[in-house]
Amino acid sequence: MSAMKFLRCSASSTFRSTLRWCRHASSNPRYDFDLVVLGGGSAGLACAKEAADCGARVLCFDFVKPTPAGTKWGIGGTCVNVGCIPKKLMHQASLLGEAVHEAVAYGWNVDDQNLRPDWRKLVRSVQNHIKSVNWVTRVDLRDKKVEYVNSMGSFLDSHNIEYVARPSAERRQVTSKFVVVAVGGRPRYPDIPGAQELGITSDDIFSYEREPGRTLVVGAGYVGLECACFLKGLGYEPTVMVRSIVLRGFDRQMSELLAAMMTDRGIPFLGTTIPKSVERQADGRLLVRYHNTTTQTDGSDVFDTVLWAIGRRGLIEELNLEAAGVKTRNGKIVVDAAEATSAAHIFAVGDIIYGRPELTPVAILAGRLLARRLFAGSKQLMDYADVATTVFTPLEYSCVGMSEETAIALHGAENIEVFHGYYKPTEFFIPQKSVRHCYLKAVAEISGDQKILGLHYIGPVAGEVIQGFAAALKSGLTVKTLLNTVGIHPTTAEEFTRLSITKRSGRDPTPASCCS
Ligand code: FAD
Ligand code: NDP
Repeated sequence: MSAMKFLRCSASSTFRSTLRWCRHASSNPRYDFDLVVLGGGSAGLACAKEAADCGARVLCFDFVKPTPAGTKWGIGGTCVNVGCIPKKLMHQASLLGEAVHEAVAYGWNVDDQNLRPDWRKLVRSVQNHIKSVNWVTRVDLRDKKVEYVNSMGSFLDSHNIEYVARPSAERRQVTSKFVVVAVGGRPRYPDIPGAQELGITSDDIFSYEREPGRTLVVGAGYVGLECACFLKGLGYEPTVMVRSIVLRGFDRQMSELLAAMMTDRGIPFLGTTIPKSVERQADGRLLVRYHNTTTQTDGSDVFDTVLWAIGRRGLIEELNLEAAGVKTRNGKIVVDAAEATSAAHIFAVGDIIYGRPELTPVAILAGRLLARRLFAGSKQLMDYADVATTVFTPLEYSCVGMSEETAIALHGAENIEVFHGYYKPTEFFIPQKSVRHCYLKAVAEISGDQKILGLHYIGPVAGEVIQGFAAALKSGLTVKTLLNTVGIHPTTAEEFTRLSITKRSGRDPTPASCCS
């Protein structure tokens, strides 16, 4: 759309930034903006702000459609509103419950050991924090002179974005030299009776007004396991329904150890089971019918809440990508190493791209690097290899690099050495916490200095432990260097510097004492 046309369509508008847009339009007669970003989540905001810092004229659209249960939220995307941040806060709330009991063993006088959290107060605190982040985000955009429009954007053609302005509901268009698609995804619902009407997802749980009570969590990926664990820690009764295996794609031994830890903590798993229907009973509770695909038997149970955690779908339906010539695969956008789509000046970053990790730091760095390539002459590409990640269960599982299976598949079992060990965190002794699942391993090449291919750790604050080792692994860490590194005592991270037992040796990886 030409600048003239843009000025025409915005002339009747009361939209607050019309004047600024006009100024932009007149300074570049070809396009209204240098960059339009579709989606104001981790990826889109990072890209938009970096582009503005590079001097580009940037417009960012962000709009959230309410969930079937009616939940909606502000700018910032999944991570801030319904993902990492509220999840970490609920994880912390559940860890604190455990800490209260430990405190008694450490000599604290805690009068009421049957302490229960106040769910509504927790939700209020979490939501207040989110609102403050939403506000800071808007201020940040304004300070950086990124135009923000709270609407869905869709392609009219490859340079032309259409949206519905609010509150007037007027259809408008805007043109841009480059467009970055960063629309992310939303939770999927199974195609069974009652799923949407009666179930909720991670989009709802962090602002859920009533206590979840007995909860069926369907799905055993990151979201399913994390939600089940914080619900358990907060005193509710989750059950996890697993279609095939827990944590598909992760190291199998670590995943199974994590599931065993959850079982030990009283979280039951319904293995090889799929849901068939959800019905509301006369007492208001939810009757879930399901089918076990191994035994070929049907079963049912009654829950207060059903939480679908069966993965996410990319939000491409309303983008009208065909009009722009952008190719997709399995509901995601196909990009090359420079995040370029099949349309020359259209790029995509974050969860919406095909075949990349769906993680906030990945989305942020990819968005930032893309902006620098577009507007600051940078050539640096995003490196998607060896991205560290953490599953925030009570003993967290964190890893970087290859699983044992992947290393063996790529290099052959005879070329791989696995160092491993159970360990006993010092702070677990006094409250007599179970150390059964505190385990770590390093997957390495067998020859030379033994380059490390993957590090895996289950234990307290695993994310904090692995983050530093992730930098070392990216710098070519070897077993030789690791074992020549002096540990910090007494920490659990130091266990990586003491890994002396290989799986091949058959030696017992259980430690005799805390300092052996
Ligand atoms: P999003 O953050 O989803 O942002 C996309 C935005 O675009 C949304 O606001 C969307 O409404 C908007 N939008 C969609 N279509 C349009 C349109 N046509 N026009 C305008 N706006 C549009 N990652 C971690 O690294 N660590 C964690 O601990 C972690 N925990 C998570 C916990 C949960 C429960 C979930 C669901 C995810 C978690 N993630 C975590 C993943 C992380 O949240 C995502 O990887 C990240 O948010 C992706 O960012 P994005 O910008 O690609 O998409
Ligand atoms: P995942 O894809 O990780 O897991 C989906 C789970 O649902 C799998 O166990 C899958 O089983 C199961 N499933 C899929 N379809 C069905 C169905 N129809 N019926 C029953 N079960 C089904 O998705 P999540 O939503 O857990 O997470 C999405 C992404 O968000 C993650 O990949 C991650 O990148 C990000 N995330 C990151 C977090 C972190 O960093 N801590 C936390 C949360 C999310 P099967 O294996 O059989 O396919």
